[in-house]
Amino acid sequence: MSGRFAPSPTAALHLGNLRTAVLAWLFARSTGRGFRLRIEDLDTRRVRAAGEVAAQQVRDLATLGLDFDGEVVWQSARLDAYAAAVAQLDTYECYCTRKEIADAPSAPHADGYRPYTGVCLRLTAAQRAVLASTRRPALRVRADGERFSVTDSLAGEFTGVVDDFVLVRNDGVPAYNLAVVVDDLAMGVDQVVRGDDLLSSSPRQAWLATRLGGVPPTYAHVPLALNRDGVRLAKRDGAVTLADLAALGMDADRILALLARSLGLAATGETVQLPQLLARFDPLRLPREPWVVDPTDYADADVNRMSIT
Ligand SMILES: [Zn+2]
Repeated sequence: MSGRFAPSPTAALHLGNLRTAVLAWLFARSTGRGFRLRIEDLDTRRVRAAGEVAAQQVRDLATLGLDFDGEVVWQSARLDAYAAAVAQLDTYECYCTRKEIADAPSAPHADGYRPYTGVCLRLTAAQRAVLASTRRPALRVRADGERFSVTDSLAGEFTGVVDDFVLVRNDGVPAYNLAVVVDDLAMGVDQVVRGDDLLSSSPRQAWLATRLGGVPPTYAHVPLALNRDGVRLAKRDGAVTLADLAALGMDADRILALLARSLGLAATGETVQLPQLLARFDPLRLPREPWVVDPTDYADADVNRMSIT
């Protein structure tokens, strides 16, 4: 059984992504699990050189010392597996546009997600034919508003309503919620560690795992990294990628130390290696607040250090 890290090759990994990767590795290795790497490249056709971005992500993870088991899995090579999963499920075509769903009279969840109200399930054949002449349908799974609970190491038991969510988008691309579930089952992943922005989608995914004959994984949804404005960290927030930090003179050890400090696993100025972090790791003592990343902190510290030595 395994944990996993599953980046999307849209941009270089930043400190927030790397911190989640370190956490996923610690969760997996501290529980005797394997650790798998999956490149989530289904929706990167518009990203220039997604293959090169992914290759750099793999190198960055290795630079930090994270090791993986088995082959790297690329979602773009698994379209047949997603189609086979869809064929096992009770599905229907949905012709709604994004705007129609946004305007539908359903209460949005706290994260802005609007549960689908099942409009297209109730279309007559004639209505369907009219829509089909001008629009390509998405494919939704029929869930009948079931409630489903997951167990999260940090959030405890978390329950959500499973709506008729999209399995295949109207451009033919398998949806995230489908692909991750199919892949985790195929890869023997029984522990999912990722950013807590995905907690709300976990009941849908866990439910889908059971529908596909599998057992849902255990989850740990970890706090995200934010910039100084409280917004989710992004590459534009300054020196936040390994390449940026290397340009400041920060080597992998210093970056690992920075991540370890943010997790309460190292003291200021202490150099640590992954085996030490593994020995110190205790999920119950992880910070529950987001990590606010301010590049001027470590950049200034670096300048000071250089001027002293
Ligand atoms: Zn619809």
